[in-house]
Amino acid sequence: MAGNFSYLTPEQQAELRETANKIVAPGKGILAADESTGTMGKRLQSIGAENTEELRRKYRQLLFTSDKLMDSCISGVILFHETLYQKADDGTPFVKILQNRGIIPGIKVDTGVVPLMGTIDESTTQGLDDLGKRCAQYYKDGCRFAKWRCVLRIRKDAPTALAVLENANVLARYATECQKNGIVPIVEPEILPDGEHDIVTCQKVTEKVLAAVYKALSDHNVFLEGTLLKPNMVTPGQSCPKKADAIEIAKATVTALQRTVPVAVPGVVFLSGGQSEEEASVNLDAMNKLNGKKPWALTFSYGRALQASAIKAWGGKDENCKAGQEEFLKRAKANSDASLGKYAGGVKGAATEDTLFVKNHQY
Ligand code: 13P
Repeated sequence: MAGNFSYLTPEQQAELRETANKIVAPGKGILAADESTGTMGKRLQSIGAENTEELRRKYRQLLFTSDKLMDSCISGVILFHETLYQKADDGTPFVKILQNRGIIPGIKVDTGVVPLMGTIDESTTQGLDDLGKRCAQYYKDGCRFAKWRCVLRIRKDAPTALAVLENANVLARYATECQKNGIVPIVEPEILPDGEHDIVTCQKVTEKVLAAVYKALSDHNVFLEGTLLKPNMVTPGQSCPKKADAIEIAKATVTALQRTVPVAVPGVVFLSGGQSEEEASVNLDAMNKLNGKKPWALTFSYGRALQASAIKAWGGKDENCKAGQEEFLKRAKANSDASLGKYAGGVKGAATEDTLFVKNHQY
């Protein structure tokens, strides 16, 4: 095992560690704004707007030019390739706008989910072939962290051992390509909320999946201090008749993390996974209020739960830009408070209680 061991240099490690720690600084989390063009189309359709490059640009501009409250709540933004190279109305590149505010640009680098042959609806995620080259370019263009989403589902005989192993391995390979290029990998093994399973089942599956992921990261010599984990919270399936409250969700989630996530990992940045805006804030808050061992920062990397009210209030109209920004900032502040265990709850907005569940969600 020992011997000719090639590893990241101390300087490379220091840079990755610093970026990861900045992202999970107290009271801060990530805005996931990396919806693919197709997914953005569905969001725009929901407000009766057309899926044009210009409207996608205007909407992202709305988010990135929100007033300065954003800077104290949001440490990083995950961008889609198209958005990384877009500019604001005055010609300033979005990347510059974020950097000037002290917000770290990140990039989605997977190229989507593909079926795993011989399984029932299970998948792996593709995009490894030219990943090193793309990461090198993205680093030059200002990105310091990346996201790669793997998807697992709970069924009677799923996830299968094949799906768990394959997705853990591809996440580990992705993580090494990022780290060699100075980019902090966000490792995202999302277990979908689709199904009738109860919270206990979700906890067990989450533990097995995370244990497999950390075994693979170790096998691939990934530098854990320069990574972040983006998991689902442990909840009952969407169609489970027995619902769980925030305290049950917090306990089940933190227990699953305690059993599987090494202390070396600086932070866990949850996805919102179809929870309403308010649920996502309240559940995160409950985890941070919970007593017990929590050696990592527990914060957010929300897409839908940070944006649902904002996009609704904006409605695709220039004159509603300010209203959209106000809604976005309300959720950013609620989640910032929740990441400190200081969210009192009840912040209302245009879509606070709306269900954001999407069957078999694609990103
Ligand atoms: P949601 O918060 O909408 O689940 O999305 C977060 C994300 O980035 C999924 O990859």
